[in-house]
Amino acid sequence: MKLLFATNNSNKLKEVQAKLPHFEIVSLKELGVTEDIPETGNTLEENALIKARYLYEKFNLNCFADDTGLEIEALDNEPGVFSARYAGEEKSAESNMAKVLEKLEGKTNRKARFRTAIALIANGKETVIEGVVNGEILTKKTGTEGFGYDPIFKANGFDISFAEMDMETKNRISHRGLAVDKLVDALKNK
Ligand code: IMP
Repeated sequence: MKLLFATNNSNKLKEVQAKLPHFEIVSLKELGVTEDIPETGNTLEENALIKARYLYEKFNLNCFADDTGLEIEALDNEPGVFSARYAGEEKSAESNMAKVLEKLEGKTNRKARFRTAIALIANGKETVIEGVVNGEILTKKTGTEGFGYDPIFKANGFDISFAEMDMETKNRISHRGLAVDKLVDALKNK
């Protein structure tokens, strides 16, 4: 079964395809959609739905979209829905991490979580699911794997950052990995 995924992020595509071997996951690039679908919602769930509805209306094929936020307790859950553009519209991972590290300087509470919302539209029916991983923000960047905020995030129960993990391990415990597990369950019922 073909399933459209509203992403142009090749890391995400790899992570998700690994969990859904029996589906042909088609990215925006393969569909010829090169622009970013506007994320105008106030929550991760709204943004995921906006993106999934955009695809469903355009291509009339089963599809899903995700939106992820890093929620830091000491910063009132910032950057949250603004995670991609936290340090500006250029959406630079380096600048975003630098801003987080600066804002947390001297703070002892470094608790944080990644949260992913996935909106699935299959056979016209909408389902929204979430995945969460709890952890903390490190005091400096560590590791070179992954993307985004991975070098400064450490999941509870691990002593390495997300950027030091192999994809398989990250995918097993991460916000998106857990959300995709629920997506697999939701698809089984289709
Ligand atoms: P998006 O909504 O999934 O595009 O992600 C929003 C922001 O969170 C972007 O800055 C991403 O780089 C970041 N992000 C999303 N997923 C991850 C992840 O698995 N690790 C680290 N950063 C992530």
